[in-house]
Amino acid sequence: MAWDFETDPEYQKKLDWVSEFVREEVEPLDYLFPHQEYVALDGARRRIIDPLKAEVRRQGLWATHIGPELGGQGFGQLKLALLNEILGRSAWAPIVFGTQAPDTGNAEIIAHYGTPEQKERYLHPLLEGEMFSTYSMTEPHAGADPTQFKTQAVKDGEEWVINGWKYFSSNARSASFLIVMAVTNPEVSPYKGMSMFLVPTDTAGVNIVRNVGLFGEGLNDGSHALIHYEDVRVPEEALLGGEGQAFVIAQTRLGGGRIHHGMRTIGLAQKAMDMMCERALSRETAGSMLGDKQFVQGYIADSYAQLAQFRLFVLYTAWEIDKYNDYKRVRKDIATAKVVMPTVLHDIAWRAMQVHGALGTTNEMPFMSMVLGAGVMGLADGPTEVHKVTVARQVLRDYRPTDGMWPTEWIPGKIDAARAKYADLVELEVGNL
Ligand SMILES: Cc1cc2nc3c(=O)[nH]c(=O)nc-3n(C[C@H](O)[C@H](O)[C@H](O)COP(=O)(O)OP(=O)(O)OC[C@H]3O[C@@H](n4cnc5c(N)ncnc54)[C@H](O)[C@@H]3O)c2cc1C
Repeated sequence: MAWDFETDPEYQKKLDWVSEFVREEVEPLDYLFPHQEYVALDGARRRIIDPLKAEVRRQGLWATHIGPELGGQGFGQLKLALLNEILGRSAWAPIVFGTQAPDTGNAEIIAHYGTPEQKERYLHPLLEGEMFSTYSMTEPHAGADPTQFKTQAVKDGEEWVINGWKYFSSNARSASFLIVMAVTNPEVSPYKGMSMFLVPTDTAGVNIVRNVGLFGEGLNDGSHALIHYEDVRVPEEALLGGEGQAFVIAQTRLGGGRIHHGMRTIGLAQKAMDMMCERALSRETAGSMLGDKQFVQGYIADSYAQLAQFRLFVLYTAWEIDKYNDYKRVRKDIATAKVVMPTVLHDIAWRAMQVHGALGTTNEMPFMSMVLGAGVMGLADGPTEVHKVTVARQVLRDYRPTDGMWPTEWIPGKIDAARAKYADLVELEVGNL
């Protein structure tokens, strides 16, 4: 019997170690160095974080998303999911374990499509954890529909010249290089006329115009760059994969990235759940503990049910990716996880906030940033609506229209068919129907 929900004991031991290590050693960094995960290490941060990374390597848990031939552990997605759901508790944990977005997805596509020289130049330092990268695809006028992108790369001798605007290029201010999607042949369908380029951030003409902040961050002090690419010249070797392959590459990248977000979201939602339950057992009002009130019990039961379903679904999807080794084949379930993720995080964080009363709404508790995080999850890597369309289309592929006037399950038709099938054997009994 192959269905088995147990983790093998050896790996479970590692996960237990990770749980304690993240809570004791890594979570404090979230309070010591908030919002600095993507700033190059120096001073006190390097003194603290380098030994933590070294410990992760000693445990054989560094960069588990990537194969051993490239210096990672090649655990596959299911083991990664079990690890990532622990790392999701802490903003710093993915950095300390070498599995932070967007670098994991970017590393995956360079590993998949990069030339040996590109791997040497970009992938190896990325996997060493000493370099950050940016995925530069969305444009100010178009995001969900990449066929509308206008940024163009034109061949000039042995160089490509890139011109255009990109928006929400996360971490560009600290990235060493950008993966830029650009139109290379406007004459053909966008699915065949766009290409990806590896562009060092310090190339002349890469102008970061603004560092857009999310709610709560300072104006022009965020990490999502508006970039004007102005006559940016890169050599032919900067092309990633073949000319016209941008859409194929984007699917590889975003498939992995989306399910990794799902894995980390389990950890964050579990953290909100933990806080809600602690509060329910600690606060007394109107004659009983919060945990004895039926409304609060409802919050807890609904949250448990939502999280348990989401977790099992993400683990199942990760298992499918390992089994088929093909993101495209699993895209319906990756999209489904992406659709469900914001709601799960939002609902649980919102209930946990409510149970904390006024304190829950303050900047002394993390609920508001979790709720905002849920909103972000509904947009980053594509809006929920677009993923729902994918899910529905994929689901409908398994169905066929009915041949006749009535639905297949039309009861009068079913009765006639049943009578015809068993007429000889039960003629008398069904005669009364
Ligand atoms: C925190 C964060 C980080 C991000 N990081 C990156 C990054 O590193 N690199 C990058 O390139 N981009 C990044 N993005 C951008 C992200 O990919 C886009 O926001 C997303 O694709 C949506 O594009 P848009 O914002 O232009 O919204 P639009 O395309 O304008 O869509 C707006 C809304 O319209 C509706 N809508 C759109 N299409 C449909 C449809 N087909 N059917 C029904 N309704 C629809 C949805 O409600 C959608 O939310 C990031 C976004 C966020 C929030």
